Amino acid sequence: MRAWILGTAGWMPTVHRGTTSVLVRAGDRALLLDAGTGAARLVSEPGLLDGATRLDVLLTHFHLDHVCGLLYLPATGLPVEIHAPGEWLYGSASAQVLAPLLRAPVSPFASQPFAIRELDPGGGSIAGVPVALRAQLRHWAPTAGIRIGDALALVTDTAFDEGTAGFVAGVRHLLHEAWSTSHDPASVDGDATAAQAGQVAAEAGVARLTLLHLHPRADPAALERDARAAFAPAEVGVDGRELTL
Ligand SMILES: [Zn+2]
Repeated sequence: MRAWILGTAGWMPTVHRGTTSVLVRAGDRALLLDAGTGAARLVSEPGLLDGATRLDVLLTHFHLDHVCGLLYLPATGLPVEIHAPGEWLYGSASAQVLAPLLRAPVSPFASQPFAIRELDPGGGSIAGVPVALRAQLRHWAPTAGIRIGDALALVTDTAFDEGTAGFVAGVRHLLHEAWSTSHDPASVDGDATAAQAGQVAAEAGVARLTLLHLHPRADPAALERDARAAFAPAEVGVDGRELTL
């Protein structure tokens, strides 16, 4: 299994950061975790999808910064299946939640181009990799925490949550939201700080921590200092970089 971080911004892209998206490859399968503007790299760097026969997309939630890249995916030429938490976390079919985005006049495509499946909260196998899920209820809207076996976990769009460390315990590489530093005026109730990401990583005993879903004005050096007080190996994510698993 290999993985790349395609987008590290939250809310809006910046000159150097697309919004949240992570690519996992296992053989001829490709799994995209969230489809923010970072997903554009699948089109500008087609080598990321070399040998892929289809593309599965797992959505943490439906905020626009995590789903706007869905409309880029027809450019990959691959069949796309979306796995989303509509029924599980919102009590509404995911296809219904996504419909305004995926059909005219918002979508430029004449017909809705994707298969859409409901996430099973019990997890299972998606795109040939083992997926575990956890409801995160401390954001502006419910979100899904994602764990891919013991290799990788994505925890974004959540305030600090005491249950996260148990969920990601022992995973090799944790990707965790770091919206701001601890004392930044940008810090808010619904999003975790870098220090809190570091605290989760330390409690969970992960090997690596990459910070993502950053505020558009975030200072990467300040975020790293804030996280490293709790977890020394913490690093701010860099768009396009392959992750060590
Ligand atoms: Zn977000």
